[in-house]
This record gives sequence, structure tokens and C-alpha cells, in this order.
Amino acid sequence: MIFNNNSIMRRPCIAANWKMNKTVPEAMDFIYEFLPSVADVKDADIVVAPPFTALFAAAERLVGTNVMLSAQNLYYEEKGAFTGEISAPMLVDVGCDFVIIGHSERRQYFGDTDVIVNKKVKAALNNGLRVIFCMGETLKEREAGQTYEVLQRQLLEGLREVEARKVIVAYEPVWAIGTGKTATPEQAQEAHQYIRSKLRESGRDEADSVRILYGGSVTPENVDSLMACPDVDGALVGGASLKPGSFERIVKFTRGHQ
Ligand code: PEP
Repeated sequence: MIFNNNSIMRRPCIAANWKMNKTVPEAMDFIYEFLPSVADVKDADIVVAPPFTALFAAAERLVGTNVMLSAQNLYYEEKGAFTGEISAPMLVDVGCDFVIIGHSERRQYFGDTDVIVNKKVKAALNNGLRVIFCMGETLKEREAGQTYEVLQRQLLEGLREVEARKVIVAYEPVWAIGTGKTATPEQAQEAHQYIRSKLRESGRDEADSVRILYGGSVTPENVDSLMACPDVDGALVGGASLKPGSFERIVKFTRGHQ
């Protein structure tokens, strides 16, 4: 468990975002190798987010284990003429516990605005899914001194009329995603602290118990120093989650200095 300065307990959460990687056999090979290696991890939530096509097979294997299943996206309508889309009830049906919403790649390449992100968050929660809500500034925004303005907008718009205790926030600076350029622990802590303070200011009494994950080139080498930050409650991991051994090491980050 992580204890922050106010002694609020926040259970670490380590989530793998596989993006558009892995066929069904590749996903299952990962899961078969990974599960026994983390079976003894009792003090963290472990989540994997395979592509849609591997969700069903993964769900069947994950039943009764300590690894939870997430989708990477959804569409906010429940059903109907939306060719190519997947709804929240469909994700529940296939066995998902979580869904990632607002990932920067969705915002950047697929037009997910704050308004759309907010609709997706509500659709997920209304259907009993848990949400990993992603947010973060681009390099251009950081260099222009707009980081906090962007974070505030994404947080308040994306979580408009949403109870924050129902979501896990993932701070993912866009310049750190898939670039090998990680935020320093100081940069991560500063942003996480800011996000928590904004949650508090927006009247969310539960702000201290909301988990805020860091994402952006997390690796076995840097996870310990990031997890040592008082407001970093876990990690959302892309590239380094694709190999079981690497993700296992991240899940087994060094405890004890929180
Ligand atoms: C991500 O996709 O959420 C991510 C953080 O990717 P990477 O770890 O590869 O930077």
C-alpha cells in the first residue's frame, strides 16, 4: 500500500496498454507466462489491456486470477448503426473490468475531444466498468508554459459530472509516450500533485483517495524512482508491458519507500 503525506492509503495499480499489438495466440502466450510470475503479488492491482480481438480469450483465462482485464477504448452509444464501434455493454459482456479512456493517441489520431471523452467516461461508469482516464500535455504545450492550463481543462471537462472516486487518473505527458523520454520523478510528482489539488478544488472530497498513475516510457529501470513519489500511485505502461518479464518487474517495483 502507498501512504501519502496525509496517510491516505492508495493501493498501487500497474496497467499494461498493449495498443494495436498482439494476435490472440500472442496475447495468450503472454498471459500464460505472466500469470504464474505475479500470482504472489497481493498488494497491487494488475491490469492488462489487450486489443479488442483478444479480449474474449483473455477474459476466459483471467477469471479467478489477480490480473484484471481492460479494453483500450469504447464508443459511448449503447448499440445501433455505428459501424466498427464497440459499446460499454459489449465490453462488460466480454468480461472487461476496466476501459482506458482519453488516451493521447485517441485524442491525437481519432478526434476524441474532451466532450467525447466525458461521454465515454459516463457510458463506461453507467455500465459498471471502471475507468482509466488519461490526460497529459504535448511538448508544444509544455514548452509554451501551458501544462497546467491543459491539465485543468482535460480534467474538469473530461470528468464533468463524474464522481472522481470512480476513476483512476493516468497522467501521461504526450512527449513521454513511446519516446523513451520519461518525465523525471520531480516532473511527475508536480503534475500529480497539481491534478489532485484540482480534484480537491473542484469539490471532490475524495481527491486524496483517487489513484493517479504515471504513464510515458515507464521501464523496469525507472519504475522504482517514479513509484517513490508520494502522489504517483501506479503506472500505465505501453512498450515495456509487451514482454512478460519486463512487465513482471514493473509490477514488482520496489516497495517500501512510499
Ligand atoms: C501508453 O501508451 O499509455 C504509454 C505510456 O506508452 P509507453 O509506455 O510506450 O510510453
